[in-house]
Amino acid sequence: MLKINNLYASIDEKSILKGLNLEVNAGEVHAIMGPNGAGKSTLANIIAGKEDYEVTDGVIELNGEDISELAPEERAHNGVFLSFQYPVEIPGVSVTNFIKTAINETRKAKGLEDMPAKDMLKMIREKSELLEIDRKFLSRSLNEGFSGGEKKRNEIFQMAMLEPKLAILDETDSGLDIDALRIVANGVNKLKSKDNAVIVITHYQRLLDYILPDFVHVLYDGKIVKTGDASLALELEAKGYDWIKQELV
Ligand code: ADP
Ligand code: MG
Ligand code: MG
Repeated sequence: MLKINNLYASIDEKSILKGLNLEVNAGEVHAIMGPNGAGKSTLANIIAGKEDYEVTDGVIELNGEDISELAPEERAHNGVFLSFQYPVEIPGVSVTNFIKTAINETRKAKGLEDMPAKDMLKMIREKSELLEIDRKFLSRSLNEGFSGGEKKRNEIFQMAMLEPKLAILDETDSGLDIDALRIVANGVNKLKSKDNAVIVITHYQRLLDYILPDFVHVLYDGKIVKTGDASLALELEAKGYDWIKQELV
């Protein structure tokens, strides 16, 4: 599904990704871990097509197609979802109305009509039941006064509704309490299927107590320097990242 080969990227002349390789197949859950500043968020942003970065070398393929030149919206329409794409507060626009608009925009880009209201309602009902999201939450104004857990709930709901092929969840280091971790993990576990793939980026092993990844990668100084199974996350938790540094020299 996703194939990244020898990716180099920089920002303001500062080199961040330095020859990164990663391959993700449908049906897999990958965790990317690594110390602060290693380039995890940069990688997520570059896959999603954020334009602040300069890709200086390498290829990013999605389902065999080079997506390097595509705009973020086009990548989204091709099934790439990055969490916190829509962190804005929009007073007066509900969680539900926002996602309806996002879905219909995606359809429009593909030359499709709006989703019939009846189908949309059915989908909202199914997904919110699956994720145990209550009705009251769906009518709240987007992100307005949301707690950390509610932001996560909204994010996972967006992911469920958009049904991405490749979901990337960048669980940035702060503010993830146990509640929020559980919401994210529950969402990933319920939404994973043989047709989609999930990349969970985290600084903490804790999240992986709830999500069982098929692969764990260590991103260190702009490269994936180690790949293992779920037990690698436990090893990192116990030993930190220094031993990896030692192995590299
Ligand atoms: P991580 O998510 O692994 O903590 P990041 O990808 O956020 O790491 O950052 C990698 C490096 O790139 C850091 O040294 C960071 O300071 C730098 N960096 C990231 N984004 C920017 C930016 N917009 N402007 C300048 N430097 C940046
Ligand atoms: Mg960071
Ligand atoms: Mg980060």
